[in-house]
Amino acid sequence: MKIFRNALYRRHDARLEMYRGRLVPCHETPARLDHVLAELARRPVGTLLEPLPQPDLGAALAAIHAPRYLDFLAGAWDEWVALDPANAQTDILPAVWPVRGFRADLLPESFAARIGLFSFDAGSPIMAGTWAAAREGAACARSAALSVAGGERAAFALTRPPGHHAGPDFFGGYCFLNNAALAAQTLREQGAARVAVLDVDYHHGNGTQTIFYGRDDVLTVSLHGDPRTEYPFFLGHADERGEGAGLGANLNLPLPRGTTVETWFEALEAGLAAVAAHRAEALVVALGVDTFEGDPISGFRLRADDYLRLGERLARAGLPVVLTMEGGYAVAEVGINVVNVLEGFEAAAG
Ligand SMILES: [Zn+2]
Repeated sequence: MKIFRNALYRRHDARLEMYRGRLVPCHETPARLDHVLAELARRPVGTLLEPLPQPDLGAALAAIHAPRYLDFLAGAWDEWVALDPANAQTDILPAVWPVRGFRADLLPESFAARIGLFSFDAGSPIMAGTWAAAREGAACARSAALSVAGGERAAFALTRPPGHHAGPDFFGGYCFLNNAALAAQTLREQGAARVAVLDVDYHHGNGTQTIFYGRDDVLTVSLHGDPRTEYPFFLGHADERGEGAGLGANLNLPLPRGTTVETWFEALEAGLAAVAAHRAEALVVALGVDTFEGDPISGFRLRADDYLRLGERLARAGLPVVLTMEGGYAVAEVGINVVNVLEGFEAAAG
């Protein structure tokens, strides 16, 4: 398997996030990828590669994200420091948001207002290297998709920050650019008539759902902690089936906190059945391993061996697959669990 590694992943290394009413050290840290790379050194299940040169990456991103959002993200840090040089010592966090009844069509002049307009939580700080790291991650996701479109059975975008919570014009949930959506869009542009995104992260893939909600060419499926109690709370219910042309092309499989492994794999079967019914020609897997029993911010019970089984099952779906690295916060185990998925996939794919 080709593994496109984001060499700039350490540049996003934010300090504090708002969590349960306090500023706490960020859960989404560079150490997560350190552990995956260390495990890949022990078990080389793929070839580590730099992303392909992509002069058209900006245009590709503009197919899934709003230009004004991309412009804001690209310049946010410089703007922040220009407001006050002392800001260079502090990460950017929003504190005000345009909820129902406020206007989102106008772009405010105030930086504080714009950071709120383009975000949905205070858990996703922006720092000096955030844009560079996120953009390089997008290049990895697009490289994985191009490589699968070119005939590879599978490719993995090994990157952070993750992407599946990032929507058309907002960041949140540690995500800034939606790597899974970019991979799906790339597969479509490269000729796949129908693509499916299967999100197995503990948290609902709200950004991916929103990006494709009105389209029938990209099926979005997510199995996740029930949003009635689990982040991101405001999307991910079973009655969200898509809208307009996209009606029927979104499937949410919310599961209660504490769901057993067998029930989780039954939901995976339901998700894969929907992928088959969609007649998808390629599959994007938003691979979070925060379904692990030891994850500090999640509530499912998968064990390390279950990730081998997940990889095997994904391979047996028989489709070309792009995997993007999403969540997983039991930092020391993230490497074993991610590489187990890849190893299981490779073993079953032959
Ligand atoms: Zn997650």
